Amino acid sequence: MTVEQLKAYELIEKREIGELNSTGYYLKHRKTGAKVCLLSNEDNNKVFYIGFRTPAPDDTGVPHILEHSVLCGSREFPVKDPFVELAKGSLNTFLNAMTYPDKTVYPVASCNDRDFQNLIHVYMDAVFYPNIYEKEEIFRQEGWHYELESEDGPLTLNGVVYNEMKGAFSSPEGVLEREILNSLYPDTTYANESGGDPEAIPDLKYSEFLDFHSRYYHPSNSYIFLYGDCDMAEKLCWLDENYLSKYDCLPVDSQVRTQKPFEKTREVVREYSVSEEEGTEDKTYLSYNKSVGDTMDKKLYLGFQVLEYVLLSMPGAPLKQALLDAEIGKDIMSSYDNGVKQPIFSIIAKEANEDQKEAFVEVIETTLQRLVKEGLDVKALRAGINYFEFRYREADFGTYPAGLMYGLQAFDSWLYDDNSVFLHLEALDTFAFLKEQADKGYFEGLIRTYLLENPHASIVIIRPKKGLTAEQEELLGKRLKEYKESLGKEQIAELIAFTKHLKEYQSEPSSQEDLEKIPLLEREDIGKEALPFQNEVHLVEDVKVVHHDLFTNGIGYINLMFQAGEIPKRLVPYLGLLKAVLGNVDTEHYTYGEFATELNLHTGGIFCGVNSYESLKEPGSYQAMFEVRCKALYEELPKAFSMMEEMLLTSKLRDRKRLTEVSAETRSRLQMVFMTSGHSMAALRAVSYFSESSCFSDETGGVAFYEFMEKVETELKENWEEIAENLEELTRCLFRRENLTISYTAEEKSLKAMKEQVKALIPALHQEPVPKESWTLHALQKNEGLKTSSQIQYVARAGSFRAAGLPYTGALAVLRTIMSYDYLWNNVRVKGGAYGCMNNYTRNGSAYMMSYRDPNLEKTNRVFEESVGYTESFEVSDRDMTKYIIGTISNLDTPLNPNAKGARSMGAWLMGLDYEMVQRERAQVLSCECEDIRALAPYLRAMLSQNNLCVIGNEKRLEEQKELFETVRNLFH
Ligand SMILES: [Zn+2]
Repeated sequence: MTVEQLKAYELIEKREIGELNSTGYYLKHRKTGAKVCLLSNEDNNKVFYIGFRTPAPDDTGVPHILEHSVLCGSREFPVKDPFVELAKGSLNTFLNAMTYPDKTVYPVASCNDRDFQNLIHVYMDAVFYPNIYEKEEIFRQEGWHYELESEDGPLTLNGVVYNEMKGAFSSPEGVLEREILNSLYPDTTYANESGGDPEAIPDLKYSEFLDFHSRYYHPSNSYIFLYGDCDMAEKLCWLDENYLSKYDCLPVDSQVRTQKPFEKTREVVREYSVSEEEGTEDKTYLSYNKSVGDTMDKKLYLGFQVLEYVLLSMPGAPLKQALLDAEIGKDIMSSYDNGVKQPIFSIIAKEANEDQKEAFVEVIETTLQRLVKEGLDVKALRAGINYFEFRYREADFGTYPAGLMYGLQAFDSWLYDDNSVFLHLEALDTFAFLKEQADKGYFEGLIRTYLLENPHASIVIIRPKKGLTAEQEELLGKRLKEYKESLGKEQIAELIAFTKHLKEYQSEPSSQEDLEKIPLLEREDIGKEALPFQNEVHLVEDVKVVHHDLFTNGIGYINLMFQAGEIPKRLVPYLGLLKAVLGNVDTEHYTYGEFATELNLHTGGIFCGVNSYESLKEPGSYQAMFEVRCKALYEELPKAFSMMEEMLLTSKLRDRKRLTEVSAETRSRLQMVFMTSGHSMAALRAVSYFSESSCFSDETGGVAFYEFMEKVETELKENWEEIAENLEELTRCLFRRENLTISYTAEEKSLKAMKEQVKALIPALHQEPVPKESWTLHALQKNEGLKTSSQIQYVARAGSFRAAGLPYTGALAVLRTIMSYDYLWNNVRVKGGAYGCMNNYTRNGSAYMMSYRDPNLEKTNRVFEESVGYTESFEVSDRDMTKYIIGTISNLDTPLNPNAKGARSMGAWLMGLDYEMVQRERAQVLSCECEDIRALAPYLRAMLSQNNLCVIGNEKRLEEQKELFETVRNLFH
C-alpha cells in the first residue's frame, strides 16, 4: 500500500524536496483533522514525533508539568516511569519531550525498525491515555506538593518541575530570555511562562491540570511527523487504527494570537541574585529587543539570521565593535529567535551598568543609522550568507538525528499555518535570492524597517542584587509558616498523612508484570560488530597525515594537530588563551574582520581547540595537542590552507585592545558555562586531583584556566606586553613541523591534492631554534567547595580504579547505564530532587559521578558512597539485564556524521585503541551478567576511597558543609 491509497487520510500535498533528498507529504487525518507530515528518504536514523499546540494560560507551568506527567504511565504501559524504561532498554538515538512557549513535542528516533515501532507505541499511549486521571500522585510528584513530616516540623514545597524551574530561574541569562519574550507580547500566550514560575506553580490546581490535558491533547490539535527510511503507509495505518480513529473531531482553540504592535518601546527591569562577595558593579545585563515581522515570511526568516550574524556575531561585526569601543559591557551577545510567531531580534550587553542604558541605545541606533547611510559591507554580507548556506548543505547536527532537526524546524511555520509545513525546509532559493540582493540595499532596508523605524520594541534590564536568593527563601519560609498556622488540626493531620503516602508511592517499585508490558528487543537483535576505525597513515616528508576515508559529500575536514608537550611549562595556560585569540586579531594581509569574511566566503570556518589524549599502552602518559580544524569543499582546500597558514604564522598578537576584548569575552562566557553546566567543570576538576592529563585540561579550559583568565584581565591593564610576548613565544614553540600531525576526513579522491597543500605548508612553519622543556603537571588532591550565587549545586566525586590495579572492562559501560537509570536516578533525582545525575568510567582508569542542578550536597555525596553496597548486592532478572545491555549498546552505537567518525578514529589512533579492543569490550557488554556487575564493586570502592570531591554551588550551602572540603572559596572574583 502507498501513502496515496490510505483511506483514513487525505493527501493535501506531495512534493520532492531535493535539498533534503526527501519526498514530502502533507496529510490530514479525515476523522479528526490530525495534521501529518512525512519526509520519506534513505536515512536509517528514523524520527517520529507527536506534538500539540499548547498556549500557556498563566505562569503555573501547566504545559511543562503535563509534559513530565504523561510520561509517568499510561493505559497500556502502567509502569511508573516508562520513559526511564525506554532509556534503559531501547536502541533509541533520541528520546525526550520538550515544552516550548507555544507547543509541546514528544520525539523519538531509532535506527532499528522494531525498536522504532516500540517507541512510537509507548509515546502515543502516553499522550492520549496517561494515568494522570487515576493517580493524583503523578501531578503531585511532577508538579508541586506540600511536605510536612510531623506536627511541629516545617512546611515545605517540593516537586520535580518546581525544583527544575527554581534552577532555571537562578541563571540571569534564563531570567533575561524569559523577560524579553514576555515583554514584547503582553497580550498573547508569550506573556506567560510555559515552564512555570516557581512563585506561581503552587497556584495550579489538579483539576485545571486535567482540563488542560483534555482540551489540548486531542488528535484534532496534534501534529504528527515521520522521517526516514520506513514504511510510512504502514505506520499511518497503525496510528489510525490504534489511536486516531478512537476520537471524533473536536474544535480546539489553540491559536497563537498576534500581538498588536506597540506605539512606543516598553521598559522592564528585573533583579537577579549575586553572592555577598561578588559585588554589583559591572554586573547588569542591558538588552535591546525588537519584534521582527512574522515567522511566515520566508525571506525574512533567513535574511535576519544573516543580518544578525553580520552585524553582531562575525569577528569584526560593526555593531558589536561599536558597543565594545564605547565600553558598554564586557561581552556583547545577540540572538534572532524565529521559533515563535513573531520573531525576536535581541542585542545584549553583559557585565554592564544600569546607568549606561541611554548610551547603549544611542550607540546601537547611531551605528545602525550610519550603516544604512554608508551601506553594509557587501563582501561581509556574502560571507554571512555563505556561512549559513554551508551549514544548511552540510547538515551536521552533531549527535542529534537530522530528521529531528528538520521536524522541529518545520514547526516554525506549521504551528502558525496548517498548510505551510515545508516552508522553511526548502532554503536554496532563498539563499540565491539573498545573494542576489546583497548589493541592492535589501539588508539596509531590513535595518530601516525592522530596527530603526519599528516601535514594537523593549529594553529589558536585569540588575544584580546581593542576597536576593536568601531574601526569597526567607519570604517563602514565612509564607509557608503563615499558611501552616492558618490550618486546623485535621488539615495538618491530612498533610502529614499525604506526605507519608507520597513517599510510599514513590519508593514502591512498579510490579514485574507491568514492567514486562514495555516492549523489549532481544539480545539477538543487537549487532555484534563495533563500528570500525578508518585510519590510514601517510607521510608528507616527515609529517604524518592520518586519512579517514569516508563519504563526506565533497567536504574535506582538516585538523592540524600540534603537540604541546615540549613548550615551556609556564605557557601551558596560554594555550587556552591562544585558542580564543587566533582568528580574532589582524593578520599580515587582513584585518580580523576581513579575515572572517574571507574565511566564510570560501570555507566552512576555522576552529581552534586544546585536547589531551591519554595513552592506553603507556598508562599515565598523554599527548597534549593544540588543534586547528577547518572544513571546506575540495576545490577550496588551497584557500583553506592558505588561511590557516596566515592565521597561525602572521597573527598580530601585540594588540592590546583586541587582547583585552577577547580576554573579557572568554572569561565571561566561561563563567556562563560554570553556571549552566557546572557538573562537567566540577568533574574535570575532581579528576584533575589525580590525573595529569585532566590537570592539563583543567589548566587550559577548566577552573584553573578561569582563574588564569581573571589574572590575564588584570595584567592586561598594567603589563600587557608580557602577555603578548608570551603568546608570541607560544606560537614560535608550537607551530613547528616536528610538532605537527594531520587528521583528514574525506573521500580518497581528494587526498592527493590535499597532500600538496601540506607540502607547501611545512616549510612555512617556524624553524628557528627554541628551548624545549619537558615538564609534568603535578596532580594534587585539593577537595574544593567553589562558591557561586547559584541556588543549587553540582556535586562531583572521582577516583582512579587503575591506581588500584583494576583493568577496564566492557561491563563498566553497563554499570554506567545501571547507575544512570536506576541507582543514581532513583536516589539523586527522584528522591533527592536533582535535575540530573551522571557517571562515567574511562578506558584510562578514571571514574566519576556527578549531579546536575542539585538542591543537596552531603546527601548526594552519601548516595555516591553507598553505590558500593548497591553494586555488591546487585541482582536483577534476565529480562532486566537484557534491558541494560540494550541501553548500553544504544549509547555505543550513536549514529555519527562523517566528521565525527573521523574524529573518533583519530582519537583511537592517538590513544592506541585498536579495533580488537573495542570489539572485545562490545562482547563483554553483550555477555554481561549480574555477577559481572557485582564484580565491579571493588572499582567503585577504589574510586570512592580516594575521596576526591569538588562541588560548585550555593555559597551558603557550601559554608554549612565546610568540613567536607580542604578549601571553600569563591569561584568568581
Ligand atoms: Zn522539565
